[in-house]
Amino acid sequence: MRMILLGPPGAGKGTQAKTLAQRLKLPHISTGDLLRQNVSQGTALGKQAKDFMNKGALVSDELVIQMLEQRVSQPDIEKGFILDGYPRNINQAKALDGMLKKRNIAIDLVIYLDTSEPVIIQRLSGRLVCSVCGANFHTKNMPPKVNLTCDNCGGKLYQRSDDKDETIKKRLQVYLQDSFPLIQYYNDKHKLYRLSADGDKTIVLNRIIELAKEYNDSHKV
Ligand code: AMP
Repeated sequence: MRMILLGPPGAGKGTQAKTLAQRLKLPHISTGDLLRQNVSQGTALGKQAKDFMNKGALVSDELVIQMLEQRVSQPDIEKGFILDGYPRNINQAKALDGMLKKRNIAIDLVIYLDTSEPVIIQRLSGRLVCSVCGANFHTKNMPPKVNLTCDNCGGKLYQRSDDKDETIKKRLQVYLQDSFPLIQYYNDKHKLYRLSADGDKTIVLNRIIELAKEYNDSHKV
């Protein structure tokens, strides 16, 4: 199963992708996580990406496509993957199609997590992320048991630098301008399923798992 999770920042792509990856036993590929790792390790890529990320702008297609190409060359993606945060525009989608085509594979399912603006802002402005395991918490919706400490691994929780109010607005603008056209792109290829992601995350998760199962059942050889 090769699945893409699409949707605005705050739709829950990362949260859903982490759980789906465990449940479906597939690697989770998040270009945002890969870029943040590069920034924290101070690599050449991280140095080039950092300012764009802090401003809420997209990192250049060239850098991100190259980074993804390296990731999809790893043997663990043979059984499939859950892609989150990529593609962010049509150019990236076409590059992905090309990378997969070279390997005689293609995207199976694209899940669009449709989320309203008030929910996005509420989720992002209260989001806390574990600096060790990457788990997400929320100051109001899902507070950790101990202040600023991850329930899972005890790591320190932090607010992402791009989850500040001004940067959230910029990220939403970028989403509408660059990423929203992807919905039409995948719809035209009959790969898109739209789910409302404003509500309970477990309901959304179960629906995605059902869709994956339906897909697998209808494509059994
Ligand atoms: P995310 O964790 O997916 O919200 O991504 C955080 C930030 O990383 C974005 O605001 C962009 O600056 C950068 N980023 C992540 N994925 C991409 C991508 N596919 N193309 C360009 N920039 C990206």
